[in-house]
Amino acid sequence: MNFCSHCGHKVIQSVPNGDDRSRFVCPNCGTIHYQNPKLVVGCIPEWQGNILLCKRNIEPRLGFWTLPAGYLENGESAREGAIRETYEETCARVNDLKAYFLADLIPINQLYLMFRCSLVRPAFRATAESIEVRLFSEEEIPWNQIAFPVIHTVLKSYLDDRAQSSFPFRNQRLTQIMHSD
Ligand SMILES: [Zn+2]
Repeated sequence: MNFCSHCGHKVIQSVPNGDDRSRFVCPNCGTIHYQNPKLVVGCIPEWQGNILLCKRNIEPRLGFWTLPAGYLENGESAREGAIRETYEETCARVNDLKAYFLADLIPINQLYLMFRCSLVRPAFRATAESIEVRLFSEEEIPWNQIAFPVIHTVLKSYLDDRAQSSFPFRNQRLTQIMHSD
């Protein structure tokens, strides 16, 4: 951050009174610009045992498969955001959402909250954000073409839990953010 979004003055880094870490502070208007992690919300949509994945039409990882997910917007609940992102990326309607996996991605200051859910009907299609959208059986999942380690982890965990017919809420801190290939 270089300039104050409130008054346009150049900001400085300093530790505000009573705080314990350095912030971007505006010496002109006094605004403290706190920076906090972003929340990514998404879905693991299932239809008759198959899982809906989308092939990314945007960088990073264009052409790789992922679960529908994106940044939560102001004014919406996590659940609403997950439903919206799923619709934007796959044109699919989902319901029966249950919070399933919270992933802490500390190195990039993001949290992923993934919901397991059902497709309302097997209707979906490619979108501006997805080159291709399709259902995969467990055996068909393209493990070596999954866009991000967090998605790989969530999918693997989901399938393992499904095999046990039990979905405890999962929370994991992930250190690998991008695949090394
Ligand atoms: Zn200012």
